[in-house]
Amino acid sequence: MSLEENLAKPLIISCAITGSITTREQHPGLPVTPAEIAASSLEAAEAGASCVHIHVREDDGTPSCRGELYQEVFERIRARSDVVICGTTGSGGGRFNGAERFTALPYLPDLASFDAGSMNFGERIFENSPAFLRDLAREITSRGIVPEIECFDLGQIGNALRLEREGLLPGASGKWWFQFCLGVRGGSPADAGTLLAMRSLLPRGAEWSVLAIGRGQLAMNIIAIIEGGHVRTGMEDNIYYRRGELVDGNGQFVERIAKLAHELGRPVATPAQAREILGCQPAAIAAQKSTT
Ligand code: ZN
Repeated sequence: MSLEENLAKPLIISCAITGSITTREQHPGLPVTPAEIAASSLEAAEAGASCVHIHVREDDGTPSCRGELYQEVFERIRARSDVVICGTTGSGGGRFNGAERFTALPYLPDLASFDAGSMNFGERIFENSPAFLRDLAREITSRGIVPEIECFDLGQIGNALRLEREGLLPGASGKWWFQFCLGVRGGSPADAGTLLAMRSLLPRGAEWSVLAIGRGQLAMNIIAIIEGGHVRTGMEDNIYYRRGELVDGNGQFVERIAKLAHELGRPVATPAQAREILGCQPAAIAAQKSTT
């Protein structure tokens, strides 16, 4: 694709609101309760986020997998906004296994994260065995949810493509949505060469986005804007607006990306455009199904 074509594509800005690793000690404004997570999501949507990526916590900040918490967050967001919702199926920093990782899915987020392989993750092992990935693919796609295929290295792209040959991915819409997750200790580094190598392995027509942990976040986001990808920002991945300066909140990160896209002449996707690009169901249908 030419630069002109890349810059003509609506940019999907995802905002990862709180994650499961950052603590209040590191950032006193980290959203923790369902009300705070929803409020911060709405602030991100207002600033231009097409999508919010949701983890939940207990009130003391401990990562949680309780379904009621997802339900409350999703309901609070849906009451006020049509922003695309991505529910996590992560392990909460190694706390949750097997079916405990599926607890957001009954509340029908538009997207659900799909961690496409095992790896060292800092000092622990992030386990996603082939058998687990098959279960996860079925749990997500059987509900009409679109998998967000998180790849922390090149091999994980291969894992996802193997599941396509088994008929388990990408799901009913037939559209691929990849999130490259760079800069985790144990995964691929956050640099331009790595990012573009990962993109080169994608099937034709696949959409991709990039997140990077800490300082790499903004730089990788900018490359994605220029290269026709999409971006994820937010306090799950980084808490500094610039070196030594904590971000005010998720809205400030999204605002900066929207401004940069604007400066480069790339339009920001509305939630409705993002749903169409990613093959999600329209917001009204998703919201209705989740309450029945
Ligand atoms: Zn996450």
